[in-house]
Amino acid sequence: MSNGDQEIWSRVKERLRIEVGDDVYSSWFARMDLEANEEGAVRLSVPTRFLKSWIQSHYAEKVLACWQAQDDKVNRVELIVRSAVLRSAVPAKPVKPEQPALAAHEFGRFPNGNGGYRPVQAGDGNGHEALGGSPLDPRLTFEGFVVGRSNTLAHAAAKQVAIAKRTDPVMFNPLYIHAGVGLGKTHLLQAITWAGNAAGERKVLYLTAEKFVYGFVSAIRTQTALAFKESLRGIGVLVIDDLQFLQGKSTQAEFCHTLNALIDAGRQVVIASDRPPSDLESLDDRVRSRLAGGLVVEMGSLGEELRFEILKARALAARAHHPSFDVPAPVLAYIAKTVTHNGRDLEGALNRLLAHNKLTGHPVTLEMAEREVRDLIRPQEPKRVKIEDIQRIVARHYNVSRSDLLSSRRTANVVRPRQVAMYLAKTLTLRSLPEIGRRFGGRDHTTVLHAVRKIEGLVGADMALAEEIEILKRHLQE
Ligand code: ADP
Ligand code: MG
Repeated sequence: MSNGDQEIWSRVKERLRIEVGDDVYSSWFARMDLEANEEGAVRLSVPTRFLKSWIQSHYAEKVLACWQAQDDKVNRVELIVRSAVLRSAVPAKPVKPEQPALAAHEFGRFPNGNGGYRPVQAGDGNGHEALGGSPLDPRLTFEGFVVGRSNTLAHAAAKQVAIAKRTDPVMFNPLYIHAGVGLGKTHLLQAITWAGNAAGERKVLYLTAEKFVYGFVSAIRTQTALAFKESLRGIGVLVIDDLQFLQGKSTQAEFCHTLNALIDAGRQVVIASDRPPSDLESLDDRVRSRLAGGLVVEMGSLGEELRFEILKARALAARAHHPSFDVPAPVLAYIAKTVTHNGRDLEGALNRLLAHNKLTGHPVTLEMAEREVRDLIRPQEPKRVKIEDIQRIVARHYNVSRSDLLSSRRTANVVRPRQVAMYLAKTLTLRSLPEIGRRFGGRDHTTVLHAVRKIEGLVGADMALAEEIEILKRHLQE
């Protein structure tokens, strides 16, 4: 390949960037390299299969057109995954080797009854190859899940789903679990998958939303969309994690289709997301209502007691591999008290103690724990506030109804409460202005902005209003 080719490639990239915009460009094309340009056939490489199939199904024509604009001899653009190519000039950053098509070791790991895992042969030839479950963590089982006040219902529902027999009527469909980061969603979902597959009653497939998209997009590319759907239909329980990442019109249409097909066929669907269905902004209304039509369960933040129990269980589990790792109860209590509500930080804290213990040989003491986990101690994370709660509490406070707040009435006694509610929605949640507008009876985002500015302006001068808002905020956050 000549320098001239690289020069043309630079120009093609520039053109591409202009045509698709900076954001799209850096999301999808920043890691695309030129591998060869031979007799009109250009070969480009990307680091992952996901990128490859996405670019192929969404931007193939655009890329070709950009090339042809620079070099009219080009008639074909081929995309490959980089690790499949031997590169002479290895870049500084190592490229992770690609997984085989179905990654049998991922989806196909089932407990074999004596603590180990045996790989399950993948590939029954009906499109499953392209489907591929997401990797499962062997620690995320029901046995390792500690039940407390904040997750009793979610746990019970998950358990029910996992042990249900093929012939049992489906009790709630879909089961939709939502909670903030690190509160055990993935843990529960994977526990369902492990337990369900071990029981052997129904095949459980666990997919992250990204994996779902990937499976589908690549299936379309290889013209096996039908096979893909067929294989989905062969699944007893479909588990989808982190639904909030599902985006894009065509993906959603397909998701909706899959959801309907599975539910109508009496198959169980389980979904986890960081927000309730009503707050999934980009989702189609039909999908949203279908999601809300099953059982929607929220898991609250982990209370101190639950944190303690989780730590205890984790420390015990770690001890199986590291017999010298003894964490005294006061240390567990200290961490449970000071390290936030998030399960990941708890795990991080224990890992620090373990590392320290292994590296220095010093026993775990309170002093050591205080030193080691200091930076994991954060001020209490604010509670997730929902727009619904804001509307309910503001309406009650001002003695109007929630539908007044959402209505188009413009009398003073509802205008102010409505503005306050919108202001609170903007300051206490991460929702965008258009989303807030939508949730307030389909108002325009400029209306929301006006309300927010109005209240911001007033609280500076109006002490009574400022105090009222403080009270409402406290009420919403406790
Ligand atoms: P999410 O998916 O909700 O962000 P995860 O399921 O990944 O959260 O949980 C984060 C960490 O906290 C994991 O290590 C998980 O095992 C642990 N964890 C959370 N809740 C529990 C629980 N109830 N019992 C045991 N471990 C938990
Ligand atoms: Mg998760």
